[in-house]
Amino acid sequence: MAPAEHGECFVLCSGGEVDLDLGNYERYLSVRLTSEHNITTGKVYLNVIEKERRGDYLGKTVQIVPHVTDSIKDWIKRVSKIPVDGTGEEPDVCIIELGGTIGDIESMPFIEALTQLRHGAGAGNFLNIHVSYVPTVHGEQKTKPTQHAVKSIRSYGLIPDIVACRCETPLAQSTVAKLALHCQVEADQVLVVRDMPTIYQVPLLLSEQKLIPQLRSKLALEKITVSPAMATQGTALWDLWKSVVTPTYQDEVKIALVGKYITCQDAYLSVVKALEHSAMRIRKKLNLMWIDSEDLEPTTGGGAAQAKYHKAWHDVSTASGIIVPGGFGHRGTEGMMLVSKWARDNEIPFLGVCLGFQVAAIQFARDLCGMPGATSEEFDAQATDRVVVFMPEIDRKTMGGTMRLGLRKTIFQQDTAWSRARALYGGAEVIEERHRHRYEINPELVEKLEKTGLHFVGKDETGERMEIFELRDHPFFVGTQFHAEYQSQVVNPSRPYLGFVAASAGCLDQVLKQDPVEPFKTATLLNGAT
Ligand code: GLN
Repeated sequence: MAPAEHGECFVLCSGGEVDLDLGNYERYLSVRLTSEHNITTGKVYLNVIEKERRGDYLGKTVQIVPHVTDSIKDWIKRVSKIPVDGTGEEPDVCIIELGGTIGDIESMPFIEALTQLRHGAGAGNFLNIHVSYVPTVHGEQKTKPTQHAVKSIRSYGLIPDIVACRCETPLAQSTVAKLALHCQVEADQVLVVRDMPTIYQVPLLLSEQKLIPQLRSKLALEKITVSPAMATQGTALWDLWKSVVTPTYQDEVKIALVGKYITCQDAYLSVVKALEHSAMRIRKKLNLMWIDSEDLEPTTGGGAAQAKYHKAWHDVSTASGIIVPGGFGHRGTEGMMLVSKWARDNEIPFLGVCLGFQVAAIQFARDLCGMPGATSEEFDAQATDRVVVFMPEIDRKTMGGTMRLGLRKTIFQQDTAWSRARALYGGAEVIEERHRHRYEINPELVEKLEKTGLHFVGKDETGERMEIFELRDHPFFVGTQFHAEYQSQVVNPSRPYLGFVAASAGCLDQVLKQDPVEPFKTATLLNGAT
């Protein structure tokens, strides 16, 4: 998945590299998913072909229906039984997102499989929510696209129980009535999902429209026994959610996001979410400026290029905090280095994530360790001063799925009681975050960098791999080799992000005094994490 085309590649605890939608499910449901939860056409076909090669079909003709559709159904049934979060308990409800748009060639076998699954599940066990867009053209709410979509999906046998209408403004009563009539549902089965000030308020909107009682009755949820402890936790989490997302915050915190895939903002989805979660936590509105790192590089180009350059630096100079997220390849990295220097020299809070961590360390070496030619092996394999090198265990030949991936431990080193990064994790000695990289800080240069003041406060279990750096005499200058954004949640923001946003808003000390671990007990419990 090319980040600038498809958006971010989300990384799971297990190291699975999956569609960014899975990140939304983890964030909203407080669950941990596995690669098995991501079904793709490729995985299904591979499964069918492997079965055929093994002889499982006993020489029968292999076809889309029933073999591919059966494979999809079996996959869903198997995955729906995977215990969530190590509790050992099977989930009571399985949410299946059938992505795409009705009519897409790619989705046809999936539609047929779900139609069969619905039929097999029987009454009280399957609910189909069809999501459709209701555009407003010259002030008129148009129901035709939804009517057609519902007609098509019904013709395939996947009959909607609820039609969720995405729209910019609330739908008129008459529009809802028209939709109900033409989609053959009752008016209360039409959900009006209008744009909200923030996406976090959408669950409140759905709740207002009585979605929960409908789910309860259509899925016979009263038959499920929920332990009193779980029920209390659920209520507490919902209350916490409402208290965080309901207010509209006035004071803003201005952050510059400096990256190389700025043309596709979804490439940084989890980063943006983690910044939003953190801003809500300190009760501020996030004002995010998107800056293409290439624009920060001096240019010999004409007027337009010069204008871009000056505009980009103007934006940087007005930011209260600067974040450089992950990425791959040389392009744009000189601009990232320049901006890390700006933040370091001007005491602007800075967070470098993965590639951002690596480039900030390289820039530090160039400026302060007498290594003007410092670089990464990723940018110049022949360079002498390689501050960032290829990790020894990584496969150089196969590029796909061979990085250092998923949840790994970071150990806070001795004598790091001063570290704000550590304090943000409640002073813990060991933390676990998700990774996705093939290069690392050159272990041979660590001593030199540390002597000059770039403290690697967190390392892996071997002490050889650098995980977190921090400057001591700076308001907040932190880099992490891991991607803390992947585990951020609305009521439980990622700690490095929270620290960065709080430092940018000038309230890091207050946040640290409040003991950030404490208010999030509920979410932590639901995660099954310790
Ligand atoms: N390109 C760098 C590496 O492979 C950083 C990766 C990233 O930012 N996810 O190590």
